[in-house]
Amino acid sequence: MRKRPVRLLEGWPRIAFCTALALVLLVLAGPARGTDETANGERYLREEVRRGARKIPVLAHVEYQSALEASRAGDKERAEEHLRRALRFDPDYADAYFALARLGVSRLRPDAPVYLIQGVLSLGKTYNGQARLAVNAASTLSYVLLVLNLVACVAFSIKYLPYVAHKLGERMRKRFNAALPRVVSYLILLSPVLFFADTIIPLAYLTVLCWLSMYRREKILVVVLVTPFVVAGFFDVHVRLAAVISDPKSLTSLVDRANTSRADEHLVQAIDRAPAVGLEPEKNLTLGLLYLKDQRYYDASDRLLKALSLDPDRAMGYVNLGNVHFMQADYEKALQGYRKAESIDASDPVCQFNLAQAYIKTLLMKEASRSLQAAGTGIEREKSRYAEDAFEATTILPRLFSDKELWKLAVAEATTLDAERAAEGRVLFPWLPGRTGAVIVILTLLLAVALSRLINPEKLTFQCSNCGMLTCNGCCVEDRDMTLCRECAKTVESVTSEKVVEALLRQKRQATFLQRKKSAKLVSMAFPGVRDIYYGHVSRGVALAFLFSVSVVFLITGGSALRDPASAAAKGSLLRMIITAAGVAAAYALSAVSKPNFSFKSQRHRASSSRAVETAAETPKATRAA
Ligand SMILES: [Zn+2]
Ligand SMILES: [Zn+2]
Repeated sequence: MRKRPVRLLEGWPRIAFCTALALVLLVLAGPARGTDETANGERYLREEVRRGARKIPVLAHVEYQSALEASRAGDKERAEEHLRRALRFDPDYADAYFALARLGVSRLRPDAPVYLIQGVLSLGKTYNGQARLAVNAASTLSYVLLVLNLVACVAFSIKYLPYVAHKLGERMRKRFNAALPRVVSYLILLSPVLFFADTIIPLAYLTVLCWLSMYRREKILVVVLVTPFVVAGFFDVHVRLAAVISDPKSLTSLVDRANTSRADEHLVQAIDRAPAVGLEPEKNLTLGLLYLKDQRYYDASDRLLKALSLDPDRAMGYVNLGNVHFMQADYEKALQGYRKAESIDASDPVCQFNLAQAYIKTLLMKEASRSLQAAGTGIEREKSRYAEDAFEATTILPRLFSDKELWKLAVAEATTLDAERAAEGRVLFPWLPGRTGAVIVILTLLLAVALSRLINPEKLTFQCSNCGMLTCNGCCVEDRDMTLCRECAKTVESVTSEKVVEALLRQKRQATFLQRKKSAKLVSMAFPGVRDIYYGHVSRGVALAFLFSVSVVFLITGGSALRDPASAAAKGSLLRMIITAAGVAAAYALSAVSKPNFSFKSQRHRASSSRAVETAAETPKATRAA
């Protein structure tokens, strides 16, 4: 007998069951779409404020998005309203200011520049913003320096490697009778560069090779460009600070969050667990602040007292301890806390403001007005950093960490990092050499200076005093009062008339200049700035290379190695790309129009040139006249 498949429900009960299930699902899914969004927002806002949030970035972000939508739909009025609400929730919201400025421009309103300035100011107002700006600036600068060094290295290599190659080629021709001596000598010279391409060694090596023939100005440029690498190698403050700032789980980042956001159990646990040797007072101060925000007064005073027992000179601890008593309506004890804080730092506006409130509660009106006066404009500035809705319940303000205190904490935490955590900061400076690199660079410069002292300048390659081609003691010809290269000497060989010699030399010189110009044109266009440095326009070359490197770095990184995950980084990037690409193009164009300059002072060193003068003096005058 065939078994019938088991079915739970059949016919109309099944239909009824399915309908009921669909209804339940609809009801469950309903609130997400159904209820009023603003009512939800209000509830969220009340809860955030009740638990001590200074600003409500989530709501600000929602308003900002609505403003963008309204603006796209063409309703500028509504967009502006949303942006104002966004700033109500987060007074430091730079993007909202910038959007207001854009709206103002499009509606030809005079307040557009004011918003622009406010936006720029608010970028640097919070510790978080400052920290991001600092890390991005340092990281960008390191890349710019790298590109600058690359440009200088290429330029000097093109200019001065032939000097070394000439000498080496000459040697090989004489000793080993090598075929293609010039090619072989370039291969020998460049092989170390290829082997250690990903380290600082090629830079150091090429510096030593070129140093001997360089002009003084060029040597100064090399030292200036290389110094930041040496400093960065020996002091790793930037790496350690970047590790602290970029890590959302570092104590400083957590304290910064606790400072402005509401009391949060996860945050409390994270701070409790954060590894920070020697920073126990800050940890306890922060936990005390969070408990105070959460109205857990027993825990708050416990933590604050612990912090004060570890570091009795923290005014912040006493102010917040006073707040704990004030909130429990124990105004005498609150006064004690505030007064103790005042004795440590009388200029703290929050302390003076709260002190005034406690005086009012104890009916000491004269003292109250004195304290209010002492709080001065500082308290208005402090209040302006809160969301507008954040002053509902309390008359006193919590004493938060100031930006300065957060920076101090960041520096202190940076020094306590172990090697492993400190190394995380290296991600933001991947090409900066470490201490070994710095030592290599210093040894390089010392070696270069020592070599230039030790090596007899007579033995170096120099330029032919007629055409500027390279020559050396092994191949030059002393003719009349000039030191000529082999080729120039050949052209005037067995010519006696001074006038003809002059004409022949001029012809030779012009031909060589044309040839040199042609060969330099192609190779020096690799990077903007190379050509100018090659031709000896050092400052112009550096300026072009700087424009080029800044544009390239911004084109690649967008200027921000460390992005705020909450910021809408994608928008406006097209404009930025166009600007930076234009910068790169302009650098190349300016480099292409730079004038070639083949004027050179004779590279022959003093010993030989004085000898040249002597030989010139010895030559009988009759020959010259002829
Ligand atoms: Zn010559
Ligand atoms: Zn030579």
